[in-house]
Amino acid sequence: MLPDTHAHLDMIEEDTGQVVERARSAGVGPIITIGINIESTTRAIAAAESYPGVFASAGIHPNDTAEVTADDIDRLAGLAASERVVAVGETGLDFYRDASPHEAQKNAFREQVRLAKSLGKALIVHDREAHDDALDLLADERAGDTTVVMHCFSGDESVLSECLARGYYISFAGPVTFKNAERTREVASRVPVSRLLAETDSPFLSPEPFRGRPNLPERVTLVARALAGVWRMDPEEMGLILEENAGRAFGLGLGGAAR
Ligand SMILES: [Zn+2]
Ligand SMILES: [Zn+2]
Repeated sequence: MLPDTHAHLDMIEEDTGQVVERARSAGVGPIITIGINIESTTRAIAAAESYPGVFASAGIHPNDTAEVTADDIDRLAGLAASERVVAVGETGLDFYRDASPHEAQKNAFREQVRLAKSLGKALIVHDREAHDDALDLLADERAGDTTVVMHCFSGDESVLSECLARGYYISFAGPVTFKNAERTREVASRVPVSRLLAETDSPFLSPEPFRGRPNLPERVTLVARALAGVWRMDPEEMGLILEENAGRAFGLGLGGAAR
C-alpha cells in the first residue's frame, strides 16, 4: 500500500468514505488528512476516528494565522494530543499568497514547532517563497529534535542541501509530474531515497494527466511513478520505499499501518 502523506479530505467534494475506499482499491493508504485551522483539524480527527487507515494532523496553516489567539493555540494543543493525530501542521510560512501578516505567520509557526516537539510528533512544514525565514525559524527552535517534513517541496538545491543536512524529510506532490517541471525532478533526484515522501495535497495540485482538475488521494500513485522515473527505479520498488519512509516519519508502521 502506498501512503498519501498529505491530503485535505474535508475539502474534497466527494463523500469521504468513498474517497478512502477508492484510494484503498487503488492500493493507496494510509491517508494523512491535514488540518489548516481549528475547525478543519476537528474534522480531520473525526475522519481519522471514522475511517480505518486515515490519520490526522493538527495545524493552523500560515494563510489562516491573521487572527490566531493564545486560546486557539491551546485548543490546537488539546486536539494535537489525540491518539489519531500523527503530526502537527501544516504550519510554516507563505509569502507567496501572503494572506496573513508575516509576524502572525511566524508566531503561529513557532508555537506549532514547540507543540510538535513537546508531543514528539512530526512537524509538517508549508514553505512558499519563504525559504530563508522558514529555515531560520526551524533552526532557532531546534525543530530537528522531532521529525520535520517539508511538504510540497519547492526549494532549490541550496535549500535542499540545508534541509538534508538537518535530517528533514522532503515530500513531493503533483508538480513533480508536470511536463515543465524539469527543475523539480532535478531537485528530487538529489534527495536520498530514504528521505523521500509522496503526497497529493488533494484536492489541489492534481498530477498529470489530471492537471487542473480536483485531485484525489488515489493519484499519489502518479506522484510515486514520477519519483520512480527520476530515480530510474521500478515503481513497485519505489512504492515500498515510500511506504517505509512514511511509516518511519509519522510512526504509522508501529502496531499496523492500517490501524
Ligand atoms: Zn501546503
Ligand atoms: Zn496542504
